[in-house]
Amino acid sequence: MPHKSNLSRRDFLAASAAACWASTGLSAQDSGNADSSGDEQQIIDCHLHINHYDRSIEDTIRHMDATGTTQAFILPLETGEGGVLLPTETVLHSYTQYADRVIPFCQTDIRQADALDRVRAFQVLGCRGVGEQKEHVPLNDSRIEGLIALCDEFNWPITIHFQDGAKGYNQGLAEHLETYLKRYQRVRIIGHAQTWWANISADVPAPTDTLYPKGPVKPGGLLDRLMGEYPNLYADLSAGSGFNALSRDEDFTGGFLERNRKQLLFGCDCPCRDGKGENFKGMCYSTRLQEFLRRMISDQEALDDVLYKNAQRALTGSA
Ligand SMILES: [Zn+2]
Ligand SMILES: [Zn+2]
Repeated sequence: MPHKSNLSRRDFLAASAAACWASTGLSAQDSGNADSSGDEQQIIDCHLHINHYDRSIEDTIRHMDATGTTQAFILPLETGEGGVLLPTETVLHSYTQYADRVIPFCQTDIRQADALDRVRAFQVLGCRGVGEQKEHVPLNDSRIEGLIALCDEFNWPITIHFQDGAKGYNQGLAEHLETYLKRYQRVRIIGHAQTWWANISADVPAPTDTLYPKGPVKPGGLLDRLMGEYPNLYADLSAGSGFNALSRDEDFTGGFLERNRKQLLFGCDCPCRDGKGENFKGMCYSTRLQEFLRRMISDQEALDDVLYKNAQRALTGSA
């Protein structure tokens, strides 16, 4: 069936996407999405959901406007594991409404037999990556590898929530991630969440002790080593886990930001609606992280890398 209509839909989406990308630079300036300081800093948020704390599509765009965010990777979570239930179809729907703001990702339950077929269909419909991958399945499961291999074939990024422990997700980062990095060098693997960020330090407490370690970082952590060796490995700075890791030892963080500046992605994972924490904690993850990064990174080119250029590279795979 509709082999022909699939193709024409794909052509249409490809053309829309191309038009959208061609106008990215202009739209940031034309739409006046400048932050409160009045500059025209482009920002791509690598981690945003709709439906987060029941947030509508419109309120998600309102969050982007309020935080000076030009575009965002909108990440579905089809299983609802971890609290957000967001079908890929809803993300694609938001993309048809806000094509110049939404960069649609897809996600499916990899325990279902048709999971990879669905990802192939979502690629035809305009999705640009997989994420966030967050199911109670250990990292070395062959179904996870199948998904990473497909992203490698598509030249895509995949955002993975790493959380060790009994009720965790993609458990076994320290033991298994490097195997995939050796095997698949085209896919961009974007690391997110508690266990990812605990590995900023060489000293990682057991997940049963804490998922949010505080205090001085012991240099020589897994993140520095892996990002140093594998340029297709990126770090998602979003959420409480990202901010905790960056703020726990600022003396260490200065060097970490410098060493990995081409692989760090600004992101928020914030559920608020107004950039001020309405309906959340009275605090916005996006606003807080932007203030922190602007204070820590004085070089404008390095700031551009972290705030949007690395996200463009992670999407396209261009070095
Ligand atoms: Zn998330
Ligand atoms: Zn917010």
